[in-house]
Amino acid sequence: MVARLAKEEIAPLVRKMEKEGRIDDGVFRKLFENGLMGIEIPAEYGGAECNFMSTVLTIEEIAKVDAAVSVSVDIQNTLINSLILKVGSEEQKRKYLPRLAQNSVGSFCLSESNAGSDAFSLKTEAKKDGAEYVINGAKMWISNSDVAQVFVVFANANPSAGYRGITTFLVDRDTPGLTIAKPEDKMGMKASGTCMVHFDNVRVPEENLLGKFGYGYKYAAGFLNEGRIGIGAQMIGIAQGCLDATIPYTLERKQFGKDIFSFQSLQHQIAQAITELECARLLVYNAARLVEAKEDVMKESAMAKLVASETACRITAKCIDFMGGVGFTTDFPQEKYFRDCKIGTIYEGTSNIQLSTIAKCIRKQYS
Ligand SMILES: Cc1cc2nc3c(=O)[nH]c(=O)nc-3n(C[C@H](O)[C@H](O)[C@H](O)COP(=O)(O)OP(=O)(O)OC[C@H]3O[C@@H](n4cnc5c(N)ncnc54)[C@H](O)[C@@H]3O)c2cc1C
Repeated sequence: MVARLAKEEIAPLVRKMEKEGRIDDGVFRKLFENGLMGIEIPAEYGGAECNFMSTVLTIEEIAKVDAAVSVSVDIQNTLINSLILKVGSEEQKRKYLPRLAQNSVGSFCLSESNAGSDAFSLKTEAKKDGAEYVINGAKMWISNSDVAQVFVVFANANPSAGYRGITTFLVDRDTPGLTIAKPEDKMGMKASGTCMVHFDNVRVPEENLLGKFGYGYKYAAGFLNEGRIGIGAQMIGIAQGCLDATIPYTLERKQFGKDIFSFQSLQHQIAQAITELECARLLVYNAARLVEAKEDVMKESAMAKLVASETACRITAKCIDFMGGVGFTTDFPQEKYFRDCKIGTIYEGTSNIQLSTIAKCIRKQYS
């Protein structure tokens, strides 16, 4: 179903969305109508009630066609919905999950201009004032914020406790004091709006505190493990989509009197690419399987994202080589896949940060 929807409803709009720098409203409508923005949300809250593997496969299928749309689906399902589902109060679930499943996009607001890899040094603060919290600060690089209705915001509600003061809040778009800056002009993922989000005396009722006071750093660290598996799925989708657009060309394009696929050096490189992609896919699926089995996935999710993103960068660059000159033009899709996949080695933790996480797990295992 997802593959068909991606082919029929998203593919015809990819270039238009890229040019306009926004995801078509009709595409979001189709995603909501088909349950793809609330994949794991139980039916009683209006969701599709599927499992995490379904989320992973959905992200992969959509990324084969458009990475920008896939990241919206990814963030909504792996970060926003899952956080509310797992730590939200019953009242928060009743209020937010039906909206997120049916018509409202969510944004995950953690990073700031001076808090990227070192996310827990964030400076946005939330001060208690009677029965409300007052949020002040600015978040940077917030995906979907151009269209989002619900913002999951990490703010320090007790700075004297350091990162243990970080607390999570649900903020509605129309809350006074919340403003969204213009989208960044990026090298890829152009249809996915990435903006600064400002909080100037944004007042939220204390009922909007999500989960436990001071647990924000735990939630961010824990839920980003699942998020990274989603990014891994996005990366294998991009690489597969790029290969699917490239291999038929190598079978048709003739040089020296034969199709270029006939040259053994090209065959070996394509075989290598397909094999590396399968390795990355298995890391992603294995990490997803471990999530289903409720196992700790810190190491496996870091490995999956690291390998999938680095592999996608290598494969999309290779595909441009296999295409020759036309691969360097915007008439063919390879250059877009190449630009889109670069973000995979940066967001939800850079490749260096994934390696540090893997190393931390290895130290623990052997200590
Ligand atoms: C398109 C896009 C969408 C995004 N979407 C979101 C979103 O929706 N929500 C959100 O909260 N954030 C989002 N981000 C932010 C993203 O997660 C950060 O950009 C990322 O975590 C890196 O942080 P930084 O950009 O500050 O880089 P820095 O942390 O400044 O890193 C710069 C370089 O230093 C290296 N480095 C830093 N610390 C270490 C270390 N300890 N060891 C080794 N190397 C290190 C990094 O690996 C990197 O190579 C998005 C970013 C982009 C570009």
